[in-house]
Amino acid sequence: MSRSDELFARALRVAPGGVHSPVRSFRGVGGSPVFVDSARDASLTDVDGNSYVDFCMSFGPLIHGHSHPAVKAAVVAALDKGWSFGAAEAASLKLAEFIVDRANHVDSIRFVNSGTEAVMSALRLARAATGRDVILKFDGCYHGHTDAMLIRAGSGLAGRAVPDSAGVPAGVTADTLIAPLNDEAALEQIFARRGNEIAATIIEPLPANFGLLPQRRAFLEHLAELCTAHKCLLIFDEVITGFRVAFGGCAEAFGMRPDIVTWGKIIGGGFPVGAIAGRRELMDRFAPNGDVYQAGTLSANPVAMAAGLATLELLTDTDAYERLEELGKRLDAATTGMKEFSLIRRGSLFWLVAAKNAGADVIRSADAIPADATERFARLFGRALAAGVYLPPSAYEIGFLSTAHSPADIGLLARVIADGADAQLA
Ligand SMILES: *Cc1c(COP(=O)(O)O)cnc(C)c1O
Repeated sequence: MSRSDELFARALRVAPGGVHSPVRSFRGVGGSPVFVDSARDASLTDVDGNSYVDFCMSFGPLIHGHSHPAVKAAVVAALDKGWSFGAAEAASLKLAEFIVDRANHVDSIRFVNSGTEAVMSALRLARAATGRDVILKFDGCYHGHTDAMLIRAGSGLAGRAVPDSAGVPAGVTADTLIAPLNDEAALEQIFARRGNEIAATIIEPLPANFGLLPQRRAFLEHLAELCTAHKCLLIFDEVITGFRVAFGGCAEAFGMRPDIVTWGKIIGGGFPVGAIAGRRELMDRFAPNGDVYQAGTLSANPVAMAAGLATLELLTDTDAYERLEELGKRLDAATTGMKEFSLIRRGSLFWLVAAKNAGADVIRSADAIPADATERFARLFGRALAAGVYLPPSAYEIGFLSTAHSPADIGLLARVIADGADAQLA
């Protein structure tokens, strides 16, 4: 029995499924999970001493890889001053200024502890600002696990025949409408019928939690127009895409102006941070200025703020985005002509989908994903793990490149994919 297996057996006794977030359990790929002991740069080391090139990167926050020295130094310096004050402090001020001064579409920001919390508060803000209750979301977009959003969500639920969660009151989901991605006609219909009841439409502008489902810009613009016409707010959930596809996320990349943005993942540099941001008059609805209650004992934790700032500084002060795009292009080149999988990539986000020639033109919505994608991915995952490559442990989770990856890491991933396909054809 490996040390990982021993630890998992113990974990099963004291935690549901042995884990504290479902995808970590390897249910979607089979086998039992690897227990990580340490991580540095692009590499994970497990408790049995095996090393892996990590393409999961904690599901997105670690855009500079593990244990980046600059982030670590900022964290250690912050720790030296104490780690939670429950009082006004300058660490969150510095991070807020850094973001507001560089992301033109927001003037004010409130820090929370996770992406889920950010979405929860963004929805409350939108409902308060519009005096309406209904929220429109898209099939295949994930917005964290707040009740109203646990409908046709993402990878932790996908492929398991669990369309939503038990324990969500019908009254809550009654106020959530679902639209298909990539379908202007369906949007028109929904807005024609219910548009004047909708407080906000929330979307991942680059959906990245149900595989990677790039949307046409025209579709996003059409959505924005419908929102404006019906006085409904547009929320871009950029928890994954913020600071990744560009510093200002998809809003910057697409030149769009959502009313509210939610951030998470990279903004905390690997520590628990989320944020809601938007125009000042909207954000001023939050307590203590306004009537929308929102609070957190550990919100804007100074250690997490320091990690976030160091992470964002590395993005603006180095050629990080160019390097990520270069690695991405290498991945494109190394994986062209794959026998079994297609690569869908946007910047440093990539998805290996078990479908031949499934370019982004083919798969733009959840229902276009082939039915056997899970099974085929599970085989790839197992082969990759055995060859020292840690992919995200679900067919519906996307992979992440970091500035710590090397061309050799990309080459190894490409070889693993190619070898397996050959073996299967033989
Ligand atoms: C990860 C994610 C969330 C949830 O964030 P947590 O920090 O896991 O609560 C919400 N929305 C999107 C788009 C995400 O990718």
